[in-house]
Amino acid sequence: MIQFINVSKEFQNGTVGLKNIDVKIEEGEFVFLVGASGAGKSTFTKLLIREMLPTEGNILVNGKSINRLKQRQIPHYRRNIGFIFQNYRLLADRTAFENVAFSIEVLGTHRREVERKVNYALHMVGLEDRKNHFPDELSGGEQQRVAIARAIVNNPQIIIADEPTGNLDPETAKGIMDILNDINIKGTTIVMATHDAGIVNRASHRVLELSNGELIRDERQGGYRLGLI
Ligand code: ADP
Repeated sequence: MIQFINVSKEFQNGTVGLKNIDVKIEEGEFVFLVGASGAGKSTFTKLLIREMLPTEGNILVNGKSINRLKQRQIPHYRRNIGFIFQNYRLLADRTAFENVAFSIEVLGTHRREVERKVNYALHMVGLEDRKNHFPDELSGGEQQRVAIARAIVNNPQIIIADEPTGNLDPETAKGIMDILNDINIKGTTIVMATHDAGIVNRASHRVLELSNGELIRDERQGGYRLGLI
């Protein structure tokens, strides 16, 4: 369902972000994107969400080239993708419920439907009892769970998570991984960029390793290989 065909990205200053990437990610897979800082992980995710275009090659999502999307078609394309960031990116002046609701309210969803979907998403992340709290009244792990609820509330096919456990202690990070695994088991494709060797080694998901913009490893149940990265 996601296919990079000979994709390269060279920035205007000549820096190579990605080089000749050929990879296919099937529907329902959970894929770790690993590699040192500067390896090309963000470039990979930014191309996938159509934040930028490749210099060469093609990216297909569900068989369609996303390179060809017109500017006005991009918001619609992105509705099918949930994002999770290292630093949560919640709106400080909105409660957990309101943060999750915001993304579907802007689509004009009926109020009762918003409530049903938001409550379900908060239930999925185990935060029903915190829904009226503001972000600064929640722990880091709870804030990330709100961010996950926000990412899944519109039932996307794909979730892109960029270092989602980067700011969390190992125990809390494990809880976040349990939730992401549950979401994946329900059928959502997950692409997760991470530096966390412990998490990659425990999870036995597919691993794509980038180095200087090249795909140097693609293993079904990879593990992180401490020392190489
Ligand atoms: P990672 O996410 O793995 O840390 P990135 O994808 O951010 O790596 O970066 C890959 C390479 O592309 C790095 O050398 C980085 O400096 C470079 N790069 C990223 N974005 C830009 C940009 N907008 N302009 C120029 N070079 C960039």
